[in-house]
Amino acid sequence: MKKTIILLLSLVALNAQAQSFIQAYQNRANQVSQTDITANLQAFGNLGVKTTGSVANANALTWIKNKYLSYGYSVSQMVEDPFTVGSSNSKNLIVTKTGTLYPNKYVIICGHFDSIVGPGVSDNGSGTSIILEAARILKDVPTEYSIKFIHFSGEEQGLYGSTHYVNTIAYQSNVRQLDIKLVFNIDQVGGKIGNNNDTIYCDEDQSTPLSNNAASQAVTQELATCTTLYSPLQTDIDPAYASDYIPFEDKGEVITGFYEYIRSNNEHTVNDTFANVDPVYVYNVGKAAVGALQHFAVASTSLLGVEENALHKLESVQIYPNPAKDVLHIELPKEIANFSFEITDLSGRSLIKETNKTIINTSSLENGAYLAILKSSDQTAVRKIMIKK
Ligand SMILES: [Zn+2]
Repeated sequence: MKKTIILLLSLVALNAQAQSFIQAYQNRANQVSQTDITANLQAFGNLGVKTTGSVANANALTWIKNKYLSYGYSVSQMVEDPFTVGSSNSKNLIVTKTGTLYPNKYVIICGHFDSIVGPGVSDNGSGTSIILEAARILKDVPTEYSIKFIHFSGEEQGLYGSTHYVNTIAYQSNVRQLDIKLVFNIDQVGGKIGNNNDTIYCDEDQSTPLSNNAASQAVTQELATCTTLYSPLQTDIDPAYASDYIPFEDKGEVITGFYEYIRSNNEHTVNDTFANVDPVYVYNVGKAAVGALQHFAVASTSLLGVEENALHKLESVQIYPNPAKDVLHIELPKEIANFSFEITDLSGRSLIKETNKTIINTSSLENGAYLAILKSSDQTAVRKIMIKK
């Protein structure tokens, strides 16, 4: 009897400690790359208006699939889920990474890739880019629970893709087919460049059915805690609504999610472009998401193999001030002596080129957004910078 009590007490203690800081999780969150995020957002924008069923929509799916292949995921880990909206055909993409201890219990991280009116770089190229980074970083990291990375289409017309997935794969004839631990949805976390984007909304289920609301409240608190542990962002709670977690919620599943705190109001307009989003915000939300996903899926806490990747040394570069007037400063890790620096406009036209200079004269640039590209041997770091005079 005494033994049982001690065991119970230690279980309680373990549970209370479950949200303490884990260095391995931080190291992996730090592997989110600003360069990758910026490149993903830009490529997503260049794919055009991804209305469900359009050629651009299909091209976006192919682009996402090729990303997974480039990270080392196999074709056998990917499943396409075709569905129709009226006379249009589209597909969701589901990529599964198998867990070590609970292979048949799933943490779902999801976001939509379709857009309407504009290219949807914030809504939802931002979520798409973050899910891709999480998949890249966690590819070879053991997790106790299985993870499904799901890219939904048909969201903007009324959650068609996620509804199809829930009603034909997760459930069949209302019978649960998948043991889902929780659904973590990321939608429109691009912010607007120039805003003070230091906070993220954590979405909590506050609607009917009520049976799953307490569980959502608990995991949303965990999401908020992970955000403050593994990213520089602050958090606030808002009610979950009108995104791809809702069809899951309707079935009683446990949901949570991220949504931008200061709304850009560019969603569903031609202004939802790369030029208008804040890539640093997406990067910070990405760190929070990678921290939280490791917590939810119970990733390995071993530090072996998660030391700061040497390839990402250049990533620690600081380019300031931002916005800048006539001068930019570059602060590099000491090991990097030889580098080139280039400023281009957002369409890639080269405007300034320098070698091994850490003070850059920007007086020739007009007000606006530019890309700063640093190269050293085989490494590249990209930052979006603003000129404001
Ligand atoms: Zn959206």
